[in-house]
Amino acid sequence: MDALGDFLPQFGIHTDFVKHINDLAEVESKIGPDTRAIFAETVANPSTEILDIEPLSQLAHEHGIALIVDNTVPTPYLLRPIEFGADIVVHSTTKGITGHGNAIGGAVIDGGHLDWANGRFPQFTTRQQVISDDRNGEWHSFAERYGNEAFIKRIRIKYLRTFGAVASPFNAYLSLIGLETLPQRVSQQVASAQRIAEHLNHAAHVMKVNYSGLGYTPQYELVGKYFPRGVGQILSFLVDGSADNVRRIIDGTEVFSYVPNIGDARSLIVDPARITHREVPLDARIAAGVGDNLIRLSIGLENVDDLIADLDQAIANAY
Ligand SMILES: *Cc1c(COP(=O)(O)O)cnc(C)c1O
Repeated sequence: MDALGDFLPQFGIHTDFVKHINDLAEVESKIGPDTRAIFAETVANPSTEILDIEPLSQLAHEHGIALIVDNTVPTPYLLRPIEFGADIVVHSTTKGITGHGNAIGGAVIDGGHLDWANGRFPQFTTRQQVISDDRNGEWHSFAERYGNEAFIKRIRIKYLRTFGAVASPFNAYLSLIGLETLPQRVSQQVASAQRIAEHLNHAAHVMKVNYSGLGYTPQYELVGKYFPRGVGQILSFLVDGSADNVRRIIDGTEVFSYVPNIGDARSLIVDPARITHREVPLDARIAAGVGDNLIRLSIGLENVDDLIADLDQAIANAY
């Protein structure tokens, strides 16, 4: 939201926001002649709302634009969006992929399917010096030179090589070490998150649990379609009482760490209204379901019974 609403406009890139990303009519109403892409999170943080990728990718392709998805929350272990029609997938590798909160990084994956020369994307069809053949005095465009790989080649050649936006070797090493255990970590975390969500669903002082893996949510069909291995290790819940009760619950946990990261090997707890969504205007924060009494968890690798007992004692002692 900060990046799309505040930072990218300084580079001439503007965003129209929609209320409901799965409402195709609302999304289509925002597509104009200068639209280049639809951008969405595959699983929203902290609501865990699921994106219906297939119809959205059809809509994007009817208009000749790209569907770019942020797949950070589920990680590639739980969801491979290109198989459902996404064109570009981005990840913060800082989270589940690296998995230990020890290296900041990101990854961009291009499915290689979009025709970047369809008239919508002048920066891929304009001839540029950066890929020139100087000996013959010829400049090329990325689309001419690389076809459907124009997007990822442009990132490599312009942003990695020219701007120097590369990961440090040590961070890359930590990320690769983390990646080796991605399936083992995420599968255990998902199983624990599911048990914790079910437990909190019946716990005193808990008014509502946001976790798409619980059978009663309206999105249950999307879980079956996109997430046969579960929806992930993040969940959030609303408690009764005041911001003071929320603070006491968070302070009272002993196994959970009060840290805004997600996808870590350690279990993390946070009050999004004060931490991750602090800079979001109040109306947008409420629209995202982030009230003052919301608590978000990212489940790690500790014993699940210890995690449940920790939450139970923290809640009991906070009132
Ligand atoms: C954390 C996060 C980002 C930003 O990643 P950084 O590595 O902190 O720059 C982007 N998208 C999602 C869904 C995230 O959780």
